[in-house]
Amino acid sequence: MKPLLEHKVAVVTGGTRGIGYAVVRKFVEEGATVILCGSREETATKALARIKEEFPTAEVDAAWPRLNDRESVRKTFDDIVKRYGHLDILVNNAGISQRTAFLEYTVSEYDDIMDLNVKSLFVCAQAAAEIMKAQGGGVILNTSSVVSLYGQTTGFGYPTSKFAVNGLTKSLARELGAYHIRVNAVAPGVVKTDMVAALPKEVIQPVIDRIPMGRMAEADDIANAFLYLASDMAAYVSGEILSVDGAVVI
Ligand code: NAD
Repeated sequence: MKPLLEHKVAVVTGGTRGIGYAVVRKFVEEGATVILCGSREETATKALARIKEEFPTAEVDAAWPRLNDRESVRKTFDDIVKRYGHLDILVNNAGISQRTAFLEYTVSEYDDIMDLNVKSLFVCAQAAAEIMKAQGGGVILNTSSVVSLYGQTTGFGYPTSKFAVNGLTKSLARELGAYHIRVNAVAPGVVKTDMVAALPKEVIQPVIDRIPMGRMAEADDIANAFLYLASDMAAYVSGEILSVDGAVVI
């Protein structure tokens, strides 16, 4: 069977570990040229070395733009187009989470989470959409979360940011459809990554106990959903928030 992403060029933010790294691997396996983005040169080049070791003939590269900075992102994306000719898929995946109780929440914590989880998606999506419009189409995918459906009991900034991700996804799908740009999001449940490993056991275990499928998601479970949405199998899917959460209600 033909690889699903042959001749496609993809950028994955937060591609150095966790869900993003699984997406990078999956896209590489399916024939895409992938540029993985990290927050720092050191982590990005380390992840690049790791993927090259596993896929020595793959076309992969690394970048570390400041995702909330228009000029930095535009320069990175323009360099990609100069080097590879086009930019077909953007995966807006970088994100942070917080568990601070509402009455202790500081404005600076709120700014930090909105800055990465929402503003950087706007900045990256806009820079990508300019390129995709000019080239006649593309795909923008965002990482949302199961908390964008239910909220969560502490750390309100995180679900707030993910509700905004859904709003951005659905709105951009409506606005950019005319340019043949599809926009979708994946809403993972509880995934075995560093983000979840950082949570105390007493927080995470009760959540796992309530997952009908009886386990956390592997990063690969989530990457498969991104692969589907990035590929032509989803050619008529846009404005969708695809839950991949083992049917959990948190
Ligand atoms: P992770 O902590 O393992 O990875 C986060 C990624 O974001 C890393 O590659 C990191 O380099 C990047 N990043 C962090 N701060 C950055 C910054 N300031 N600038 C640029 N890049 C930055 O987390 P993960 O679990 O793989 O999370 C990835 C996405 O999935 C996030 O958007 C997160 O909200 C979402 N998500 C995770 C879960 C889960 O259970 N792990 C569930 C739902 C949604």
